[in-house]
Amino acid sequence: MPLVDRAIASLLPLVPKPFVRAVARPYIAGETVAELVAALTRLNHDGCMAAAGMLGELVESPDEAEAAVRGYQSVLEAIERRNIESNIHVKPTHLGLKIDETFCFENLRRLAEAARERDNFVRIDMEDASCTTATLALHARLREEFDNVGIAIQAYLRRSLDDVRALTTMPTPPNVRLCKGVYIEPRTVAYRQREIIQDNFVWLLQELLDAGCYVGIATHDEHLVWRAAQIIDRMRLDPSRYEFQMLLGVQPSLRRIILDAGHRLRVAAPFGPQWYPYSVRRLRKNPAIVKHVIQAMFSRERWA
Ligand SMILES: Cc1cc2nc3c(=O)[nH]c(=O)nc-3n(C[C@H](O)[C@H](O)[C@H](O)COP(=O)(O)OP(=O)(O)OC[C@H]3O[C@@H](n4cnc5c(N)ncnc54)[C@H](O)[C@@H]3O)c2cc1C
Repeated sequence: MPLVDRAIASLLPLVPKPFVRAVARPYIAGETVAELVAALTRLNHDGCMAAAGMLGELVESPDEAEAAVRGYQSVLEAIERRNIESNIHVKPTHLGLKIDETFCFENLRRLAEAARERDNFVRIDMEDASCTTATLALHARLREEFDNVGIAIQAYLRRSLDDVRALTTMPTPPNVRLCKGVYIEPRTVAYRQREIIQDNFVWLLQELLDAGCYVGIATHDEHLVWRAAQIIDRMRLDPSRYEFQMLLGVQPSLRRIILDAGHRLRVAAPFGPQWYPYSVRRLRKNPAIVKHVIQAMFSRERWA
């Protein structure tokens, strides 16, 4: 991100909340389950599958984790009632990973069970590197009991090839989301060069597909979309063996291109009252949006 954009982005927490809400609207599926349902329905009408993710992480009290479990249970009920094509994705630290691993496991287990009863699926997001080992262990333990649970792997982590190889030795090939990774990690832990991360993404994708895993190819990087499409074509993979995944509001034109090429695509739709800190993070990430913010700051009537 250019220096000016970065400087402006760092000032974003000072920007009035209603303004952030207006700019962030395309990236958030709403604050309530009703708003989420409307957004998921729109995605389905556009030909996309969806994944509902409640905003929140790093909870410090069991009550907050309990609230997250209840929230996700009501989402699963709403998805079933409205016959929506959507699963859910959850952050282990939102379910209490940093409080107690057994407590987090029990919470995940409750969600896996609620999802299984409704023929649905729980994706476990991958958070920063301090969570990787514990998250993989949670996934492995859940898979002893549930086959409707999947994991995420980050291509920027140096350890990911080993983690992928461990996943591919499971009795049945797991369902894996492959993404680049979004957290700031030390150089000893994560690759920093864009080209290496891209090449590692392709390497891991090939290993996962070769092992028979179902892969969620989560990227907005058109180079990676092209490399993945090339592998899919060479392997003559049936569309039921993989899906592309993108975030709500990001690169809608690329979304259309992927769908028109005949691939399946799932859009992750974040929702919940915690939309504000999430929005500030998204705005920091994308310089193009930051530019809109700058323009709007100097012509406020456009946002009135
Ligand atoms: C469905 C999905 C699930 C994910 N799950 C995880 C996870 O569990 N753990 C994890 O660490 N990371 C996760 N990520 C984030 C991922 O690791 C990357 O940080 C993010 O997708 C950006 O990488 P990229 O491959 O899209 O390529 P980039 O080269 O970073 O992005 C390509 C272009 O897309 C746009 N863009 C990308 N991301 C955003 C954004 N967030 N907001 C606005 N514009 C954006 C930018 O214009 C950018 O130029 C997930 C991403 C997706 C799509």
